[in-house]
Amino acid sequence: MSGIKPNRRWQPAYYPFRKEKPGKRLLARLELMIKGPLFGCRMCGNCLLQETAFICPMECPKGLRNGPCGGITPEKLCYVDTTRKCVWYCIYERAQRTGREKTLLEVLPPLDWNKTGTETWGGVIKQVRAVGTGKFISSLFARDKKRKSEIWDSVFRTIRQPEWWNGDSEYHPPSYAEPVSELERKLRAGEFVVVTEVTPPLSSDTRKLKENLAMVSQYVAAVNFTDASSAVPRMSGIACCKSATDLNIEPVFQITARDATRTSLQATAVGVNNLGIKNILCLTGDNPVVGPHPAADLSMLDLDSVQMLWILRRMRDEGIYLDGRRMKYPPVFFLGAATSPFASDPALQAIKDQKKVNAGAQFFQTNLIFEPDRLDPWLENLEKRNVLDKVYILAGVAPLKSYKTALYLHEKVPGVCLPEKILSRMEKAGEKSAEEGIQIALELISSIKGKKGISGIHIMTLGREEAVGRIVKEAGL
Ligand code: SF4
Repeated sequence: MSGIKPNRRWQPAYYPFRKEKPGKRLLARLELMIKGPLFGCRMCGNCLLQETAFICPMECPKGLRNGPCGGITPEKLCYVDTTRKCVWYCIYERAQRTGREKTLLEVLPPLDWNKTGTETWGGVIKQVRAVGTGKFISSLFARDKKRKSEIWDSVFRTIRQPEWWNGDSEYHPPSYAEPVSELERKLRAGEFVVVTEVTPPLSSDTRKLKENLAMVSQYVAAVNFTDASSAVPRMSGIACCKSATDLNIEPVFQITARDATRTSLQATAVGVNNLGIKNILCLTGDNPVVGPHPAADLSMLDLDSVQMLWILRRMRDEGIYLDGRRMKYPPVFFLGAATSPFASDPALQAIKDQKKVNAGAQFFQTNLIFEPDRLDPWLENLEKRNVLDKVYILAGVAPLKSYKTALYLHEKVPGVCLPEKILSRMEKAGEKSAEEGIQIALELISSIKGKKGISGIHIMTLGREEAVGRIVKEAGL
């Protein structure tokens, strides 16, 4: 069976929330008996197999339904469970092999939890009848691929795209004309921008936070606050952003799917808008497996970053909540997303990134870059997909502090990979490693700066906020 179902199922199948009628229970049992061994089906009741090269995406520990996270290991294993391949890598690989790549661009909905554990075949049969059973059966043998796909789509699209979601594979430009934030204004004006991040404090004392903000503010267009990065709890992004706006510093509010539900995301987005926070960066978030113990739930998120972007973009541009309620005063956001250019194959990564842009991402902040040359194939793939003119890319660079930090990033942080050359430079630098880290950052910036498609630099300080000013000045930014 391994050709059909490349991974073992990671989590058990779902059970329905309610007691279903005997006929439905029987159908569900039959569906699990067949689809379980064939496709690794978990009976999510919201089947997407058509769009995922017939590999069940619910095998992903995070339950991601729109592509891989940035944490695939260099061996293409899942960082949450390194004994298994990343299921999304398997999906992409098979879709590429079988010419189904295009289907990977459709923005797919989060689970309708009402349906989990229930059968989907009843709905398919109903839809086949509506389209015409004879027409559907004859399409199975049709040579005309276009006609075949049209008939299949008329059956399966209504099932996978409920009205409350209505996802597609198209690009949706923002509906507003004037920039909503200073960061957006500068990027639109063609300035090569620098953003940074200030580490949120571990306690409620904000003195250090404010000192750091004052230290970096004159050098950057905006300041990011991570949302419990590496699954380590710290002061919330909202509180940090408020400290920044109080000092007239523009924040980038990071929000992770790990700690959000569809309800909390929408409520938070409206709330932060009221606080004057306009730049929102949507991330899936680091799994608690990389965080401190005891670990929180390692599995299953309510949303993924693509879905977060889709929801927020529709709130802004269409003035609706996910449940269809209209808003009298829609919020305004400049929406961003994270990307991990080296996480998987550049061509596959570009598909995921195009999907994010289609869903609503207007700017990208990349994971840490230590090998600028490896950016080229990824940027070329984005260009081929006509994405480069639709998104601003800010490349992630960090001033390494010590060999220990370098090794930690290389070994422990999902999606970050340091070449041997940099590791050995840091090791040899010994006591001067903090200075060596700055020199490496300056060299990286000078190689990244001129690349087509790069609109700025995101300095991830790793707690070295004092280095930001020097880097900006010496790199001539
Ligand atoms: S690496 Fe990420 S996307 Fe891939 S299976 Fe693991 S959690 Fe899911």
